[in-house]
Amino acid sequence: MDFTLLQQFTSIEDAIASFFGSRVKIAGMDRVSGGDINQAYRLTLSDGAHIFMKSNKKENLSFFTAEAEGLAAIAKTGAIGVPHVLCGGVDEGRVKGSFLLMEFIEGKMRKKDYWETFAYQLAAVHRAETADYTAKGAYGFAHDNFIGAGKQKNKVYDSWISFFRECRLEPQFEKAFHFLGTEGKKKALRLLDRIDHILVEPEHPSLLHGDLWSGNVMVGEDGKAWLIDPAVYVGHAEADLAMTELFGGFSKAFYDAYREAAPMQPGYERRRSLYNLYHLLNHLNMFGLSYLPSVIGVMEEYL
Ligand code: ADP
Repeated sequence: MDFTLLQQFTSIEDAIASFFGSRVKIAGMDRVSGGDINQAYRLTLSDGAHIFMKSNKKENLSFFTAEAEGLAAIAKTGAIGVPHVLCGGVDEGRVKGSFLLMEFIEGKMRKKDYWETFAYQLAAVHRAETADYTAKGAYGFAHDNFIGAGKQKNKVYDSWISFFRECRLEPQFEKAFHFLGTEGKKKALRLLDRIDHILVEPEHPSLLHGDLWSGNVMVGEDGKAWLIDPAVYVGHAEADLAMTELFGGFSKAFYDAYREAAPMQPGYERRRSLYNLYHLLNHLNMFGLSYLPSVIGVMEEYL
């Protein structure tokens, strides 16, 4: 793996001093609820500024290097707000583990045309140049990253469909076979064989957020949508759209505006559940059997 973007420190205090000057101290550290993988905090500095901090075990620093890289990729499109990452590292004092420091998003009221603006911004992310991440026209990503706390396999492929089969569904199915039993495994293998007949190659590759559910969208000070916690790769924009529909929370105005900004290829509704099967399998593998009926249900939709 080659995560070179994150500047690293060996203590949170050193990191703060380096960015804000040695006179600025940490005046408060309050837990922020909401995340299910990392511990999240609001740091209050002695000059009154707020910083967002995540921490995890020392050996999970790679969660944060990958997150920083993903946020930087989305930031580079210039199309939508993402928190600016300051730095990370491993701290033996306050958190006794790895940490990531970034801009604190001070959620304010949503502006009037919040959903339309969000849709146009996401469409612009999906239109952005992808050659920095994969060769022009290719799909995937140069190295593995994470989907939640699970490993997200990546390689670079010329075909979106092959990438989705080999880097998205196959690795999750392999981990899930013990949940699926003999019959479920047969269905999984049949489905993997049929993917060429279900998915389509996109008109162009898109940089994807990769984990776009409502919990990963915040309201910024500008009243617009800001994206957090990505699992970026280059793929079919439909896969991001599908994820927004998996757990809900996005308004009709968002979908109408997205379609106006970026017309979708015919048949998206037929492909949607297959994209989301990746996330359902990941949930089955991370959280257990309660996701099994949904996984089986989606497989049966296609067989
Ligand atoms: P995890 O990596 O554990 O899933 P999240 O990235 O979802 O954690 O962050 C946990 C919670 O912290 C979110 O639900 C959100 O409310 C809040 N949060 C995340 N990023 C920021 C930020 N940059 N500024 C302020 N609050 C944030």
